[in-house]
Amino acid sequence: MPVPKRKRSRSRRDKRFANKGLKIQAITECKNCQEALMPHTVCKGCGFYKGIKILTTKAERAGKRSEAKSAKSARLGQQAPEAAPAVDESK
Ligand SMILES: [Zn+2]
Repeated sequence: MPVPKRKRSRSRRDKRFANKGLKIQAITECKNCQEALMPHTVCKGCGFYKGIKILTTKAERAGKRSEAKSAKSARLGQQAPEAAPAVDESK
């Protein structure tokens, strides 16, 4: 009959039971976008909590930034051609 060569230390034995008390986390669903969520937390996908918009999401911020960039470049694009002929006339 096989017999263990050495005694299992208390540390190794107790590590086996250390995760015995762990419980599975409760999971709920976002009412707005049906994403899996921890209870009592704001949805990071859509920024809603209990049907109210709380956060601006990363995608929304990126969209706003690109809009602002394109608006700024459009403004600069309009000003640049007006400024260029003025320089040519002075010469
Ligand atoms: Zn959501």
